[in-house]
Amino acid sequence: QRILVCAGTGCASSGAHKLIDALKLELSRQGLEETVSIVGTGCQGFCEKGPTLVIEPQQVLYTSVTADDVAEIVAQDIMKGERVERLLIQDQVTQKPLSTLSEIPFFAKQHRIVLQNCGVIDPQKIEEYTARDGYLGLQKVLKEMSPEETLEEVKKSGLRGRGGAGFPTGLKWGFCRATPSDKKYIICNADEGDPGAFMDRSVLEGDPHSVIEGMLIGAYAMGVDEGYVYCRAEYPLAIKHLEIAIRQAEEAGYLGNNILNSGFNFKLNVFAGAGAFVCGEETALMASIEGKRGMPRVRPPFPAVSGLWGKPTNINNVETWSNIPHILRNGAEWYSQFGTEKSKGTKIFALTGKVNNTGLVEVPMGTTLREIIFDIGGGIQNGKAFKAVQIGGPSGGCLPEDMLDLAVDYDTLTKAGAMVGSGGLVIMDETTCMVDIARFFLSFSTKESCGKCTPCREGTKRMYEILDRITKGEGKAEDLDILENLALTIKETSLCGLGQFAPSPILATLKYFRHEFEAHIFDHK
Ligand code: SF4
Repeated sequence: QRILVCAGTGCASSGAHKLIDALKLELSRQGLEETVSIVGTGCQGFCEKGPTLVIEPQQVLYTSVTADDVAEIVAQDIMKGERVERLLIQDQVTQKPLSTLSEIPFFAKQHRIVLQNCGVIDPQKIEEYTARDGYLGLQKVLKEMSPEETLEEVKKSGLRGRGGAGFPTGLKWGFCRATPSDKKYIICNADEGDPGAFMDRSVLEGDPHSVIEGMLIGAYAMGVDEGYVYCRAEYPLAIKHLEIAIRQAEEAGYLGNNILNSGFNFKLNVFAGAGAFVCGEETALMASIEGKRGMPRVRPPFPAVSGLWGKPTNINNVETWSNIPHILRNGAEWYSQFGTEKSKGTKIFALTGKVNNTGLVEVPMGTTLREIIFDIGGGIQNGKAFKAVQIGGPSGGCLPEDMLDLAVDYDTLTKAGAMVGSGGLVIMDETTCMVDIARFFLSFSTKESCGKCTPCREGTKRMYEILDRITKGEGKAEDLDILENLALTIKETSLCGLGQFAPSPILATLKYFRHEFEAHIFDHK
């Protein structure tokens, strides 16, 4: 038997390590330390009810477990085979306890490709990754495929960048590969900074080797021999697990010179970013690695032509890299069966806000918002009515109830005025003021603006002032028109994505919840 205890940042902050200590003590008291192993895993997904643990092989999930529950769990589930009902999830309709992962809707309705090892393996042990077919994708490409064939396979899979823009990954790799140079770089963008987002952090904490393997395959396809993972310093556990994984991969011959006797060399560095949101933008991120202030620059030249230290560079985010080993191991055809015609594969979302099951979920592209929020997320807290979902973070938009049946894919959401973004989903209930929400996201963008260009630096502040006076009941009749004009101008004229998308929450909220703005302005007159 194995006891998998979630030791990701969320559960660790609510006592997972004390729980592990208590379990060790109890198992040794009962003389079970040789027969039952305790594994500290990455995020198991059910963050709302942490700390969580899963008992294998029965796949029983216990939630909100404390050190005080340990004696009962060991006595019943490990020794007698009975379950501790009060720590199980209740069915929301029948109120009966559900125990196994396959009966709990939160897990049963997901399809986990990228997250398949998260919450299952010890991320600090490479042998647990290889036992679940880790590094087989790398071995396959190095032994059986040329770099060109590897690139073609990624193109055929239909994978699009998971960092926000949804640009086809294979096409992007092709630009970097096609640029002649004596030196090229690849970068993993782990500067996740959207309020409510923790997808990339969870993958790095729970399955760091999948990111390393994805980068190795990408480096081979693009003819690159050095890479960086740019991870925000606020993610110390992710950095720790990544550094351990890099060391282990080097020792096992997967990183370094002449990898698996193929003649292919690759060196991977970790760079801790200081936490500026704008450093998620590719050119700002590279400036930061170079030791300069993290500010975007005009493109062209694009990074594929002149990137890090002026050399051709390809940047993808954590989730994109983590998809790659699965694609190469199982084939592009296998991968492209998931998702929609133009958005293939799955997407990880961080479900937060007024939803019952806050947590980390992975679903095929094309799943509707209703399925994610109600079937997996368990609906709205305290029986309240759903009002809106903010999708895509400060660059995305708020969508109302009549859009709940929209399929979540790149093109459908963009048409609706939102975006998949990196995958943050913040749920709001009937008590939420949408003008406040618009002001909150704008205040975030205003503070994070790097100040390089005027539309973003000055424009977002002026928009914030207008929103602020509207929420204080001091709005003027002409404010909504000014707000809309400013938003469109900032969108059109800002230098980088931060400014170009900062007005999106305002425009979407004005489109779908204009009556709330009007109520603030006119009901006070
Ligand atoms: Fe900086 Fe904003 Fe201009 Fe981007 S749009 S360069 S964040 S001022």
